[in-house]
Amino acid sequence: MNQPSNVDRQEIDKFNRVANLWWDPTGKMGMLHVINPLRSQFVFDHASMQGARVVDVGCGGGILTETLAKAGADVVGIDQSDLTLEVARQHAVKGGLKIDYRLQTVEELVALEAGSYDVVTCLEMLEHVPDPAAVIDACARLLKPGGHVVFSTINRTFKAWLFAIVGGEYILRILPRGTHEYAKLIRPDEMRRWAGASGLTFLRSASLMFNPLNKSFRVAPDREDVNYMASFTRKA
Ligand code: SAH
Repeated sequence: MNQPSNVDRQEIDKFNRVANLWWDPTGKMGMLHVINPLRSQFVFDHASMQGARVVDVGCGGGILTETLAKAGADVVGIDQSDLTLEVARQHAVKGGLKIDYRLQTVEELVALEAGSYDVVTCLEMLEHVPDPAAVIDACARLLKPGGHVVFSTINRTFKAWLFAIVGGEYILRILPRGTHEYAKLIRPDEMRRWAGASGLTFLRSASLMFNPLNKSFRVAPDREDVNYMASFTRKA
């Protein structure tokens, strides 16, 4: 089989192993459900979903993808975990949602559909790929001029290591152990540099701040502490 180069099979295997957990809000993917309303709102703040052509890159089980579809977007979801995509497809059918889920890399998609999306989302995926700059570049090239892209990932700082890896995986155990590797985390200035080199203009960022007491999150604008989101636009 032709093996796409910018895919880490060990990472994909991790997601294949937890594929049955995507839609369990009390399970180890539960945090994605908790943060989903906040990150969906961040996307909606940038662009109307009504009739928009949207692609969710590294869509996982479709937690965000479904929210985008429900808001009226015409959505494609791509991922490299086949078991995950199977779960995503079945869940969409159950909910009566029309989402085009594809086992494709973003590099493959851009070869077919460059310049054809209003919005690209790529959340919690960049820290799982060998070459995140190449993913950012492909996301940029998927956009129509004036389109928006939202990325989210985890900062590579002592605080982020302490909170996301030690706290999340070992102390609170709210994430599957081994989910994140420190060296693969991405600093906001790196993300902005790669995005700028791909013709994207930075718009804004926000941090998702976790409160361990009630396991809730809030959005802190203009911060990039641990788990952060950032938006960019492609020049019109
Ligand atoms: N974006 C989703 C899922 C995040 S988990 C959400 O935030 O709810 C990361 C996802 O990225 C997993 O489903 C994993 O299979 C996928 N992934 C990892 N590397 C990938 C790659 N190179 N191409 C496409 N998907 C990838």
